[in-house]
Amino acid sequence: MKVLANDGMSNAGIDKFKTAGIEVITENVPQEQLAQYINENKIDALTVRSATKVRKDLIDACPALKVIGRAGVGMDNIDVAYARSIGRTVVNTPAASSISVAELAMGHMLSVARMLCDSNNQMPLEGESNFAGLKKKYAKGKELQGKTLGVIGFGRIGQALAKKAIGMGMKVMFYDPFITTAVTITMDFFDGQKVSFSIEPSTLEQVYKNADFISLHVPSQEKPLIDAQAIAKMKDGVIIINAARGGVVDELALLQGIESGKVAGAGLDVFATEPTPNVHILMNEKTSLSPHIGASTTDAQDKIGIEIAENIIAALSK
Ligand code: NAD
Repeated sequence: MKVLANDGMSNAGIDKFKTAGIEVITENVPQEQLAQYINENKIDALTVRSATKVRKDLIDACPALKVIGRAGVGMDNIDVAYARSIGRTVVNTPAASSISVAELAMGHMLSVARMLCDSNNQMPLEGESNFAGLKKKYAKGKELQGKTLGVIGFGRIGQALAKKAIGMGMKVMFYDPFITTAVTITMDFFDGQKVSFSIEPSTLEQVYKNADFISLHVPSQEKPLIDAQAIAKMKDGVIIINAARGGVVDELALLQGIESGKVAGAGLDVFATEPTPNVHILMNEKTSLSPHIGASTTDAQDKIGIEIAENIIAALSK
């Protein structure tokens, strides 16, 4: 059997396929030649990241293609419903990147709380000439220990972040309209110990009222979840983290919140207008920024490769 990994694949994933006796081709075939390539080379499964589009026309043009894989979470580039409606299997890797995204969100929390983002920018410029001035400027940071984290969207990443926050000594609360009972978070430690925590759901109002840090881990929304009205209900000095999707936070309202002092700062991995984020967000000294790299670690890519390989192998052996 043959798999075409058109947007590449980690060595860990390739090894999984090889062990199962499946040939993996990692050639990047241009979109317009893909159908011909798949048919001529008798490809059984096509796996992509976000670059290659697997639309209805390609699916129809490749009748022998049994499985379509998305090495990652979002499947916007695949006509999933259509593919499934005509009996093709579509698989993705929803869990593989949760730890990486959660760790990035925690990184942004620490970065904003200690103003590391601006300090990192200013030290090369003034560190030598104005050390004492910068020391004073960045002297009013906050500890995370003892503070409350409000997680909005308590799925895989939200719960992974909750574990990190509990480990930092934070109190964790969450809002998720689809979770109405307490969630048990089990933390696994290096020496085999396990400790479980039960967290009751909160309302959005309770999260706004009590959280010192608010981190968003929801799917794309039709309109921003965090707008000016939501910010007005938050605690003074709140820190907002968005590593979910750009439009989830109204960036103008966020900037106004930062400028008024209501919001102490924000950590952003995603932007409403990717790949050209709002320049005022980029230039603001209270924003800690990364270019949508939540899942982009070598560890996550290895896990994604292994998970997609396992899912495709299972689908091909049905
Ligand atoms: P998940 O499906 O496991 O969890 C999402 C949770 O959000 C669910 O529990 C759902 O009930 C909840 N939810 C839906 N609408 C909500 C709303 N209006 N308010 C509150 N909660 C709501 O998904 P996940 O794997 O945890 O991913 C969460 C987000 O992270 C997704 O948007 C995903 O696209 C994004 N993500 C970002 C990166 C990155 O690179 N920054 C990488 C992977 C995933």
